[in-house]
Amino acid sequence: MIIVLRPDATKEQIDHIITKVNNLGLKPMVSQGVDRTIIGVIGEEDVLRIESLEVYPGVEKVMPILKPYKLVSREFKGANSVVDADGVRIGGKKIVVMAGPCSVENLEALMSIGRAVKNSGATILRGGAFKPRTSPYSFQGLGEEGLRHLAAVKKETGLRIVTEVMDTRDVPLVERYTDILQVGARNMQNFNLLKEVGLSKKPVLLKRGISATIKEFLMSAEYVLSSGNFNCILCERGIRTFEDATRFTLDLNAVPLIKKLSHLPVIVDPSHGTGKWDLVSAMSRAAIAAGADGVIVEVHINPEEAYSDGVQSLLPGKFDAMMKGLGAVAKAVGREI
Ligand code: PEP
Ligand code: MN
Repeated sequence: MIIVLRPDATKEQIDHIITKVNNLGLKPMVSQGVDRTIIGVIGEEDVLRIESLEVYPGVEKVMPILKPYKLVSREFKGANSVVDADGVRIGGKKIVVMAGPCSVENLEALMSIGRAVKNSGATILRGGAFKPRTSPYSFQGLGEEGLRHLAAVKKETGLRIVTEVMDTRDVPLVERYTDILQVGARNMQNFNLLKEVGLSKKPVLLKRGISATIKEFLMSAEYVLSSGNFNCILCERGIRTFEDATRFTLDLNAVPLIKKLSHLPVIVDPSHGTGKWDLVSAMSRAAIAAGADGVIVEVHINPEEAYSDGVQSLLPGKFDAMMKGLGAVAKAVGREI
């Protein structure tokens, strides 16, 4: 249920309603809009009789949220959310480009990739230190050493960092180094992990599960928000379909659809979505044209030798060319890079 307050509602009136909701054993989540405040009420709402709340001073109307996800819904918050990652804003007019290797391999390679993507206009460096691999015999990531390399490249280039956390026990470690905690596709329904990153002060990048519906995706984001972390970015990264000519099928329908259903920023991962480096540029342009707030792209200085996902990684030169094309599309849809 959401309680929409009158534009002139006073702080005392708002506090009074919050106290009432708390006393009923429900959880009030306050969303401060530009001209009015909304209180989302989470829990068994039956205890709140709609009529009784409407008589409270300061209340304009009380409405049920019909969707199973509440806090992530557009009904809860009409304006687009903008997530701040150490000063880089995701979800505003500016398109945000996150780029870097699939896995952090060593400092030298990461530093050259970081410098290159920064020169081309990326503002966030990606790179996995904890890797979710299908085979337990494949490279699993450098762990904390990888996190240290990411921090060193941030220090040198100013790029912000996004990196994956796979285990609840690693959240305190990863959040010490990163600006954005990535929850990977394979952990989209790891509810304990979602609750744990939901308690963090760092923004979360939540990737869509490879067989998850949009409703399940938004329900997973609801876990993050309902634990208190409203700084959540959604990432469409391709889903599994009958089509096997590409690694996954990039579901670009998801972009305008999620924008309609939710206020959260949406970005697209055309690297995992296609699995082919030579499709990445076109699908990045398509993502921005569809309304995405940014892209996350794999870039490697030597894709042939990459420890993971070389076939879908762009060489820095190709990434640079991609960025030039993206600028024109961004402009065409009223955005900028
Ligand atoms: C990644 O970003 O490197 C990754 C493993 O992505 P996903 O979780 O989408 O497969
Ligand atoms: Mn990868």
